[in-house]
Amino acid sequence: MKRKIIVFFIILVWISNISFASVGDFTISDEAKLGKKFYVYITTHFPIVYDPYIVNYIRGIANRLKSALPPQPFDITVDVIYSPQINAFAGPGGHVFVYTGIIVLMDTEAELASVMSHEFAHVTQRHIAESIKRQKLFSIGSLVGVLAGSLVGSSVGHAVAVGSVAGVKSAMLKHTRKQEREADQVGIQYLVKAGYPAFAMVKAFLKLKKQKVLSGENSVPPYFLTHPGIEERISYLEQMQKFFPSKGRNISNKHFEKMKALVLAHYTDPDLALDLAPRLKDQCCRRLVKSFALLKKNKIKEAEQLIKDDYCEKKLEFWDREKGRFYFRLGKMADALKYLNRAIKLNDKDYFALYFRARIYGEEQQPKLAIDDLNKILEFVPFDSEIHTILGRIMGRYVSPFYGYIHYAYAALYKGDKDRVNKYWSRAKSLARSNQEKMALKKFEQEYNKWKKYW
Ligand SMILES: [Zn+2]
Repeated sequence: MKRKIIVFFIILVWISNISFASVGDFTISDEAKLGKKFYVYITTHFPIVYDPYIVNYIRGIANRLKSALPPQPFDITVDVIYSPQINAFAGPGGHVFVYTGIIVLMDTEAELASVMSHEFAHVTQRHIAESIKRQKLFSIGSLVGVLAGSLVGSSVGHAVAVGSVAGVKSAMLKHTRKQEREADQVGIQYLVKAGYPAFAMVKAFLKLKKQKVLSGENSVPPYFLTHPGIEERISYLEQMQKFFPSKGRNISNKHFEKMKALVLAHYTDPDLALDLAPRLKDQCCRRLVKSFALLKKNKIKEAEQLIKDDYCEKKLEFWDREKGRFYFRLGKMADALKYLNRAIKLNDKDYFALYFRARIYGEEQQPKLAIDDLNKILEFVPFDSEIHTILGRIMGRYVSPFYGYIHYAYAALYKGDKDRVNKYWSRAKSLARSNQEKMALKKFEQEYNKWKKYW
């Protein structure tokens, strides 16, 4: 009997899943507009991970899951936030964010895909639109901040109005139990359809539960502030997974391990990274993590010993880049340059390698080479505020003050810092003489008009 009820429930969820619902007065175009603003808000207020290896890997999982989704009004995007918090959320308009903290907690691609498939289901079921409509919040101006408060969790301490009116509204926008259940039940179907085993979702939730127990009352990870009733969820997912094939497609965990090694090496507390390194199966992944963790702990000799060896060059495609990065951090620029050059020769799309090389060129007073690399990086990440800042510093000093200010203005624009935009823009205006400079000003104005509506 129980079995029948569950099967019935699965079918029901399937049906509700076939077409996306239109939610009252909060239309798809309303949500898309809010989504863009929200995306700009999050990417300008939180540190985003740009490492192309990590980003491409995560987007690869996203694409696999997307192919299992019914036609969607939004193009789902996934970005990674650098934060030890155990969290992931789906903003309006299909903008999903995964924290490095939750990546660290997961041990396989399928487990990470489970977390993502749950978030994707919040998008396809339009849960945010549902909540906005339920609470009649669509007209309030600070919706972006309110939403951020509800999805990010109040423990983050960002300026998302904790304890204020917006804070209360944030609480109102949290997903309901029913929405969470639906996201699990629809999400697990996406997961299976994308070729992952259903039990991975149970495993992921068991890990989250363990973490909740470990973290104690005072520091419950934000994921649980928005995701109540974990015991109940584990129990119905355990029931559900029995109805799916027990095995997924054969997925090697090799790529997951490489990505996770980078996250542990660069986006994790070194003590935690050292604790977790032995759990990686590949010895080069372990070496990488240990080497950077020891470097952060100032155990330079041991750290260098681990990365010096050439053995891993053929095992990890980013080994040269990482070696260059290591020597860069150590201040051994000639060594750093040697390995970065090798890395770029191997893969000229690795804009992280270009980034470290540009910084070396900058410090070694080779402005032309630095500017070339920085401009190449901007082809991949045109809205990166930091790259524009560095470019501004170098161009201001070696090319002309005008180009210095115009890049500072771009940097401020992509950070959402209105005051600085105006300050640098007006300085650039006062300095523009040549036609080329006047054209650069025009281009900036167009970009400004595009972005200001998202503030
Ligand atoms: Zn959820």
